[in-house]
Amino acid sequence: MQEGFSNFYKREGDRIVCTLCRHYCKLKEGQTGICGVNKNSGGRLQTLVYGKAAALNIDPIEKKPLYHFLPGTTALSIGTVGCNFKCPFCQNWRISQTTITDNSTHITPSQLVAATIHHNCQTIAYTYNEPTIFYPFARDTAKLARREKIKNIFVSNGFESKEVLYDMQGVIDAFNIDLKSFNPEYYKKHLKGSLDGVLDTLRLIKKLGFWLEVTTLIVPGVNDTQEEIHSIASFIAQELDPYTPWHISAFHPNYKMSDWSATSIKTLTHAAKIGKEHGLAYIYMGNVAIDAVTKCPACSENLITRKGYMVVSNKIKNGCCPTCGKEIEGVWS
Ligand code: SF4
Repeated sequence: MQEGFSNFYKREGDRIVCTLCRHYCKLKEGQTGICGVNKNSGGRLQTLVYGKAAALNIDPIEKKPLYHFLPGTTALSIGTVGCNFKCPFCQNWRISQTTITDNSTHITPSQLVAATIHHNCQTIAYTYNEPTIFYPFARDTAKLARREKIKNIFVSNGFESKEVLYDMQGVIDAFNIDLKSFNPEYYKKHLKGSLDGVLDTLRLIKKLGFWLEVTTLIVPGVNDTQEEIHSIASFIAQELDPYTPWHISAFHPNYKMSDWSATSIKTLTHAAKIGKEHGLAYIYMGNVAIDAVTKCPACSENLITRKGYMVVSNKIKNGCCPTCGKEIEGVWS
């Protein structure tokens, strides 16, 4: 297949329907979808950002954040321009909310895998902007990477289509998915997505057996009511698994919300308390100066100690707590 052209579309009359994400954009010849980077070119779907890295860095895997997936390792992290959401607080809005690509930054899947090996990274993370919109590139890269025993991570807003999620089996290993709110109106009006779509993705990721961690950015006055936090924590505990790590992250003024207040530690602590009431075993506060510790849910032994994004000590032995023997949920080697 010609580079950049994907099979993730179907024909419908004189249009094609992009099946990469749940927007299912119907595109006439020459049109691009909501993300601005997938286009009907000659009756086929072309990903305009194939291999066009807008950000490429080596990050600790803890920064994704993934705390129960190969802790203490590094991820070669790549993102492009474009996004299928329009979050007013986006931390990466300079790349996610533009479609202008830098043509001098082209990288092929094999070059990316070679760089991952060269820098001794154990994983490749598709991140920064929404990776679903450049899944054809991520997929080609991940398939090559797996041959080299490199694992692949998706850091995503959870708006993948079912077609893509099923295709990811044997391609992607782990996800961090944002559950940004539990208010359908807010998802629709302000983020330009859908709560039901994201919840459906979360359930399917769990059902298909991928490793999953969930992040909620707590924004004061937006999604920090007791009711909403209870709803999010309850969904994770009841419909996913109480052992799903939940990252509750502090908002800092940014993009269209630069005049908004930052989230206080008190608010995060309160959200963590609500999470515990729902039985969530692994709750972590992010974007604040508090070092996260993974404790054994059975005997409370400190298992993984971190300083910022750095793992200071990891006592997990063969996936278990060395004190009481409880199996600790995660991917450890
Ligand atoms: S990736 Fe999503 S937003 Fe972009 S064209 Fe496809 S369906 Fe539309």
